Amino acid sequence: MALGNLDEIYRDDVILDHRRNPRNPDRIDDADRFMDGVNPFCGDEIHLQIKLGPNGRVMQVGFQGEGCSINQATGSMLSEAIKGLTLSEAARLSDRFHRMMEGSEPPPELLNSLGDLGVLSKVRDFPVRIKCALLAWSTLEDGLSS
Ligand code: ZN
Repeated sequence: MALGNLDEIYRDDVILDHRRNPRNPDRIDDADRFMDGVNPFCGDEIHLQIKLGPNGRVMQVGFQGEGCSINQATGSMLSEAIKGLTLSEAARLSDRFHRMMEGSEPPPELLNSLGDLGVLSKVRDFPVRIKCALLAWSTLEDGLSS
């Protein structure tokens, strides 16, 4: 397998778009869940706030991040992806994301089920950066299980 070029990831349209226009950047002060994560190895930080609707579904998400492009883009994409889900559905989505990033080559059904998030599978070619793509999702999982 030929190793890709990291620049290729940074130039990916979906990733670039989220990097330049992060979704849901406003902090939600009256959120139901507050989640914060740090990856000390590359200085990435993720802050998430989740506000639930009366039906128990994610109604509003706040995302603020610092650090590398992969971290920032993933956090922004996560903030879009979990809207409208119940917390257990969000946990299952996180599970699928982890499965895409870790272990053996992800099957096409898995990639398809992840939609835009699938572009991040390219990061697999850069093992040291996988943690950058996982930080937001790990932060979410920690927050959901606590
Ligand atoms: Zn990073």
